[in-house]
Amino acid sequence: MKNLVLPSLRSFAAIFFPKLCPGCMNPLHETERVICWGCQLALPQTDHPWDFQNELWEKMNQFGRVERVVSLFDFHKNSRVQSLLHQLKYKGQQEIGEFLGNWIAPQIMTSKVFSEVDAVLPLPLHPERFRQRGYNQVQKFSDCLAHHLGLPVVNDLVVRKKKTRPLVKMKNTDRWEEVDNAFAVKGYQNNTFKHFLLVDDVITTGATLSSCANALLETCGGSISFVALASRLS
Ligand SMILES: [Zn+2]
Repeated sequence: MKNLVLPSLRSFAAIFFPKLCPGCMNPLHETERVICWGCQLALPQTDHPWDFQNELWEKMNQFGRVERVVSLFDFHKNSRVQSLLHQLKYKGQQEIGEFLGNWIAPQIMTSKVFSEVDAVLPLPLHPERFRQRGYNQVQKFSDCLAHHLGLPVVNDLVVRKKKTRPLVKMKNTDRWEEVDNAFAVKGYQNNTFKHFLLVDDVITTGATLSSCANALLETCGGSISFVALASRLS
């Protein structure tokens, strides 16, 4: 009886409260999970997993030595990607992070793009922001990547000590000033990792990620790579 009741309750709920695709906000078909087929086909995927010296790598390398940089999607305003990231970051839909981790991991593994990495670090939120949001939006994505790559996730090596304002509308010099000294590395005396993979949701200016990378490298040495869900080059 139990087995019959539960599916019918689910169908009933699905009629009145259909689960929406976070990319296009249309109801998901019962065969679709997290992101609809239409969005999966239309999302603008980059070729970064197969192009080690891609444009994003060139951009990030200006701010300090970076081994590899990969973002899954190109970011544009008012796009499906923006909608996906908004639902992930502000609407508690953490399953999007896991879905996209499962999406990009096989590509990364095939291309051996991160074959020398030995630890995955989600870019930390400021503690106050973490309390407000209740989660780090790149945690599930990072966990999923690390699982596929057989690597540890390190959540306690870097802390964000400065609550930075959004950088997008700032002038270039102000951006760097805003993120200067924003991160601190703790417990590094026991660190044994040599190549860190820093994970963020969107790379736009690159300033935040670079600031965190610099703090990490100055304290721990070694090398750094980046992965992001999306990136905007301009
Ligand atoms: Zn969709």
